[in-house]
Amino acid sequence: MSNKGEFELIREFFTRPATDASVHMGVGDDAALIAVPAAHELVVTTDTLVAGRHFPEDACAFDIGWKALAVNLSDLAAMGAQARWLTLALTLPASDEDFLREFARGFFALADQENVSLVGGDTTRGPLSITVTAMGVVPAGAALLRSGARIGDDVYVSGTPGDAGLGLRLVLGQWHDELSDAARDFALQRLQRPQPRLALGAQLRGVASACLDVSDGLAQDLGHLLQASHVGAELMLELLPRSAALAETDAAFADILALTSGDDYELLFTAPASARERVAAQDTLCTRIGTVTAAPGLVFFRDGRAIAMPQGGFLHF
Ligand SMILES: [Mg+2]
Repeated sequence: MSNKGEFELIREFFTRPATDASVHMGVGDDAALIAVPAAHELVVTTDTLVAGRHFPEDACAFDIGWKALAVNLSDLAAMGAQARWLTLALTLPASDEDFLREFARGFFALADQENVSLVGGDTTRGPLSITVTAMGVVPAGAALLRSGARIGDDVYVSGTPGDAGLGLRLVLGQWHDELSDAARDFALQRLQRPQPRLALGAQLRGVASACLDVSDGLAQDLGHLLQASHVGAELMLELLPRSAALAETDAAFADILALTSGDDYELLFTAPASARERVAAQDTLCTRIGTVTAAPGLVFFRDGRAIAMPQGGFLHF
């Protein structure tokens, strides 16, 4: 950025006192220096959010900051990792103090909640886009992979998938049916401020046989897990957990939202039947929705009867 005021603003909003002893050098040199704990693996993920593609151009800056971080932390959660460090690359169309302040507020609200440290970053001028790199640690060999599902394992999903899809339809003005204010608020919150399932991911180490996070829709992401594990699955649609908000919608449409809408950032995982008690003991709601099978592919059942994949309503930002 050419504008010196902008540099000062970025320094003001994004520089924070170093409190993390593992960060030997954060912002202030050519690169960050981090001490990775012994006997751990470093887990690294990165995602870019582009205005108009991943969020509406007029989305609130706080929510953009929150979500840019949340989607990355969700990937660490899916690996069973403890989130530790972040870098942030911001491309901004113009100097906008209000935007920067609110973006930083949203970003750090989640960073503080999860106790992760920003250790570096970069800013350039251009169409609004945000790239976060999130780093975490996991005891060596203990990471949750997509490839570990075994025939006979149970299939679980955390939380209540489909809420974010309902929220997206509200944001896009594509929801015309009756919905209570509480349901509306809840769905928007789930879309705009997803909670990465970090605590659950860490607790699933040694419990889940395979895991990923739901970013593209439950059915599609489960397909990725099954493919990586060279197995198939049967899904019992009547078992899909439903929030009170989603329960206000038509039942068939709620299924479509739960199966196909992205942005839920819930964890989808498999575990052997012997782990049922340990899964049930999690603080986060985890619902058993199916079984891993030898036959490849995903088969849907409703009340014991095989049915075609519920169709309609694919929607993405
Ligand atoms: Mg993922």
